Amino acid sequence: MKPADIAVVIPTVGRDSLIDLVVVIGGADPHPAVIVVVDDRDDSAPRLELPPVTAPVRVLRSGGRGPAAARNVGWVATETPWVAFLDDDVSVGAGWLRSLLADLDHLPLTVGASTARIVVPGPAGRSPTDEERRTTALAGARWITADMAYRREALLSTGGFDERFPRAYREDSDLALRTIESGFEIVTGGRVTVHPLRSRGGWRSSVTAQRGNADNALLRAKHGRRWRARIGEGRGRTGQHLVAVGGLATALIATSLRRRRLAVAGAAGWAAVTAEFATRRILPGPRTPAEVATMIVTSALIPPVALAWRLVGEFRWRRPRTLVVKAVLFDRDGTLIHDVPYLAEPDGVVPLDGAAVVLDRLRRRGLPLGVVSNQSGVARGLIRPEELVGVNRRVDRLLGPFDTWQVCPHGDADGCRCRKPAPGLVRAAARELGVRPRDCVLIGDIGADVQAALRAGASAVLVPTTTTRPTEVAHARYAARVADDLQAAVEPVLAGRE
Ligand SMILES: [Mg+2]
Ligand SMILES: [Zn+2]
Repeated sequence: MKPADIAVVIPTVGRDSLIDLVVVIGGADPHPAVIVVVDDRDDSAPRLELPPVTAPVRVLRSGGRGPAAARNVGWVATETPWVAFLDDDVSVGAGWLRSLLADLDHLPLTVGASTARIVVPGPAGRSPTDEERRTTALAGARWITADMAYRREALLSTGGFDERFPRAYREDSDLALRTIESGFEIVTGGRVTVHPLRSRGGWRSSVTAQRGNADNALLRAKHGRRWRARIGEGRGRTGQHLVAVGGLATALIATSLRRRRLAVAGAAGWAAVTAEFATRRILPGPRTPAEVATMIVTSALIPPVALAWRLVGEFRWRRPRTLVVKAVLFDRDGTLIHDVPYLAEPDGVVPLDGAAVVLDRLRRRGLPLGVVSNQSGVARGLIRPEELVGVNRRVDRLLGPFDTWQVCPHGDADGCRCRKPAPGLVRAAARELGVRPRDCVLIGDIGADVQAALRAGASAVLVPTTTTRPTEVAHARYAARVADDLQAAVEPVLAGRE
């Protein structure tokens, strides 16, 4: 590992600490190949002025779209095998790059990222406030892009940060989870990076931070219900928040109905949960009158605000249960029939379990069906065109009739517009069926099927097999849908026809 193998990417909102960071890293010997500073203030902000240093420094802009988007703008502009992401408020010593090189040296290719040990110095002579403890918690977080180096291959295979995370919250956990789903490991290095204690949010900061519940909903939609355990976090407080809000609502409604006992019970429930919440936040803190008052007030405000943001997130990232389409397209190999590479023999056609049943259910609902299939064996001379026709006829006899057959006979090098992941086959099938591509869903077993559908404007359902790459499954989980088998794949289509 050499210094020239590393690019440093720093997203910034123009904090003063950025200058120190650039001077320390860019003026050190050795220095990284390049420091890319991505200015994420909106485009009207004046150009960022940085002092000249030994290392090459590039300043790019990301137009106020948040740290996830800013980091993507940064790493995409680099070419080194490793990209080190640093936040603009951390402080590092002159030996930082040497420690990073030591951390990355001799890492096996299976390691996709290395994270630093983050130290957040506590306040002198007193316990940290509730707000400060939200920053000190960073020290215990499993993956944190305050100082995290990613291998370029890992970024390429995940596509980098998900820009739907608008804040410096959860976007790092999401990328780390997808990196692991893509088959990489993440290790903790020996380098130590200092993150400052933040406390200028004012008394309301714990309430406004509840916005993060909307980001949690996106993480849940992408990574499933067990997302908290997977990122190494304890249980959330949604249950207690529901009890608090439910108790308060009961008290108010019961009062208006003059049901005194019920009102008292509701109020007692609310008071008990709120007192427990406030106590839990007061005890580890400095317990000054101001902090205690802030904790009491905000402990009452947080539950309804947190639940409201949770609802906003659930609504924003919901996946409708139904899929309203006018035609269903299927990939052939690995989706309708067992995948035999370059199948030339009609006798080699073996339908997948349940395929015939699923196709019949769709036909009975009046849905036109099509097949969209890549057959590069023709271009490679491994199957003759008439053999392909024979195999497809056999498929049609066992599982058909299909209302359209779209087959791409070309190879990768031909640069045609039909070979999936290009959208040509999906468009052609839609045209022949007399529907728009957006009224079609394509069911397939690999990422190229999903890509072809999305690029044509159609919906997609991935039914992974043992050979489907984990990264393609991870992508389909949020860009499309993933189902365990063909039956499950058509469930939302059938539900949408009722
Ligand atoms: Mg296939
Ligand atoms: Zn083609």
